[in-house]
Amino acid sequence: MRRYGVHEQQLLPLPELALPSEAELPFSHRIYCNRDLRLDLIEAVGFDMDYTLVVYDQEAMDRLSIEATAKKLVARGYPESLLAIAPRLDFPIRGLLVDTKLGNILKTDRYSYPKKAYHGTRELSSEQRRRAYNSKRIRPGTRRYHCIDTLYALSEVTLYAAAIDALDHGLSHLDYARLFADVRASIDEAHRDGSIKDRIMADPGKFVTPDPDLAATLHRLRSAGKRLFLLTNSGPEYTDVMMDYLLSGESSRYSSWRSYFDIVATDARKPGFFTGDAPFAHSQGTTSVEGFERGKMYCGGSLRELERLAGAGGDRILYVGDHIYGDVLRAKKNSAWRTLMVIHELADELRAIGRFAGEIDRMHRLNMRRYDLLDRVREQQARLKSILRRVDIPGVETQELIELEAMRARVRRVVDRDRVELKALELEYLALERAVDHGYHPFWGSVFKAESELSSFGEQVERYACLYTDRVSNLVRYSPGHFFRGPRHRMAHEH
Ligand SMILES: [Mg+2]
Repeated sequence: MRRYGVHEQQLLPLPELALPSEAELPFSHRIYCNRDLRLDLIEAVGFDMDYTLVVYDQEAMDRLSIEATAKKLVARGYPESLLAIAPRLDFPIRGLLVDTKLGNILKTDRYSYPKKAYHGTRELSSEQRRRAYNSKRIRPGTRRYHCIDTLYALSEVTLYAAAIDALDHGLSHLDYARLFADVRASIDEAHRDGSIKDRIMADPGKFVTPDPDLAATLHRLRSAGKRLFLLTNSGPEYTDVMMDYLLSGESSRYSSWRSYFDIVATDARKPGFFTGDAPFAHSQGTTSVEGFERGKMYCGGSLRELERLAGAGGDRILYVGDHIYGDVLRAKKNSAWRTLMVIHELADELRAIGRFAGEIDRMHRLNMRRYDLLDRVREQQARLKSILRRVDIPGVETQELIELEAMRARVRRVVDRDRVELKALELEYLALERAVDHGYHPFWGSVFKAESELSSFGEQVERYACLYTDRVSNLVRYSPGHFFRGPRHRMAHEH
């Protein structure tokens, strides 16, 4: 048995010491902080693999997954026309909820209130949305409401929505819940039987977008004395092929991809990994593991066992993953691990924020003006009422009546003028909102926000991710001793 410790960590020569300050970094290269984190106190950094270290080409993956799944749906008795559909791959985003009962797809705000909804890919009007959802609270993660948490799952929504578009009129009683269950089962089957994995392993270059800074990022962390581990739900064979594709030959200092990591844990079965106490097994053979060796791959395991065998744990571990539930939320709720969430959508979001800065500012000013006008209209209406009450009092002098009438006409004019301005302002606001939303995403708007509220996805990111960024290699732009500082939160009463 070999227990590793800090003394075995090879301190590698630290390359370029001078790093630009955070303010000099482009926004897409920054790491954003929700909760203070001192990188110098982190002893070990763990990485998820799929969509974290391995960045897939979303379009290529979606096509592969939809093609494999549509075949399986047809095999289950759905019309062959499903093989010919050309769905809009850009339809879904992460954080959506699928209402499997009504065949609707929803984007909700932090209170689970739907702010946008589509039946298939046909948008519901606000009236239709209200009718369907206003009377009962939505409970995400139940049988009826399925959460779309991962980039893998986007193709489920794409196919489900496209199938509803195609079949709604063809089949007299389309069972939306059944259709969703069949889409899910077919995708799972395609993942299990190798229809998807084998194709990727045969030609990783077709499905993966390599990150030229990944090897340097891992090396920099190691150079700073941090231990690295890989913790993935993928199996050892798939992990080996993908990591080899990413890292082999990237640096002469490392003989293989495995030498970048102190522990390689595969088949981890997250999120169960964070709550159970399963032992690790060797990837070849079934004997349970009593110590980790560099260069070997392990299967199964649990957080408790990992911390025991590694002799490190708690808030000295930073875990980097892309899955809000399986990686970030569970790690946060069931351990003291700190979390860095990789959110590939962030780059687009940041671009849209930059592109629409003028419009967003204008919307903010329109809103402020709107509140002022609404206040004034309410005030003037109250004045009108009191004038009318005075007019109605019996025995009021004629002269006073004349003055009251003149005052009433003046106030009325102000109210009418304000109402005209309000109407124009609201129309301008709506047009801007539509244009900005469409610029963020043609169907859903911002991933993180729902109108002026946080979206449910944005809320989870803020709540569970200590840090978040667009890609793992943004770590290379920060000193390994960097102090990430979160925003100072203000409650409504603070000023
Ligand atoms: Mg992942």
